[in-house]
Amino acid sequence: MNSRRALAWIAMATLLAGCAGMGGGSGVERMYVINCGENRTNDISRWTPGVNVGKPGAFGNHCYLIQHAKGLMLWDSGNPDRLAALPNGLTNPAGTTTAFMRKPLVESLKEIGVTPAVIQHFAMSHSHGDHSGNANLFGNATLYMQEAEYNAVFGPEPQKYNFIPSNFDAFRGKTVRVLKGGDHDVFGDGAVIIKPAPGHTPGHQVLVVRLPKTGPVMLSGDMVHLVYSWENRVVPSFNFDIPQSGRTIDAMKEYNARTGTQLWVNHDMEQHAKIPKSPAFVQ
Ligand SMILES: [Zn+2]
Repeated sequence: MNSRRALAWIAMATLLAGCAGMGGGSGVERMYVINCGENRTNDISRWTPGVNVGKPGAFGNHCYLIQHAKGLMLWDSGNPDRLAALPNGLTNPAGTTTAFMRKPLVESLKEIGVTPAVIQHFAMSHSHGDHSGNANLFGNATLYMQEAEYNAVFGPEPQKYNFIPSNFDAFRGKTVRVLKGGDHDVFGDGAVIIKPAPGHTPGHQVLVVRLPKTGPVMLSGDMVHLVYSWENRVVPSFNFDIPQSGRTIDAMKEYNARTGTQLWVNHDMEQHAKIPKSPAFVQ
């Protein structure tokens, strides 16, 4: 092989290694949007103060598995898998909402050839039960949490914030990466960014994922529950900090407009009906 052909061959091999994710690659390859339950309420106006009073409503619930060239990240963990055994779901003590989980997250992951143990990076938008329901499955992963959320979850009064302390047992004494404000670049190449978005809970956060074909997508968590709330700057009556929730919406709208980022609203069933679900994936 002459030296020019040798160089060309090396360049091609490098390119192929990058594509196959053999350690040298970068960027998001694909994202699986996983159905992670459903929540029904007898009065949706708690989420949309002043509108739809006394009307029942339903929220979807999703988990997102991001396949980056350097590893896997799970965002949100949905309603608990154990609810799959309850065909009528689990109703809260006040009788206002019922949570369902028709297909366990472990089964959805298995369908795409993934076990919880191989996921290296894990973050939740926040720590409420419909996002932390299966967190304990991911104790092998590095957990990323804003400092204010960490202090609320692992501090003396998690119940004060409507957090269920046992949902986080797998992370006691384990690797938690506490984020002290500002953006966090998970893989170091700008492809997956955790952004603080406080208000719904003290340390709520959102995730920006740079999909190779779709472009940048922001995964909302509960920054807003519906596209309606995003468009009309509507904040639920039960948020931890209502004025801060409004300021977060303003800041993220500005960011998304400036960077051409779309917002995917985790609980909005209508919007998610248009997004391909696992085992299919988005790119
Ligand atoms: Zn939620």
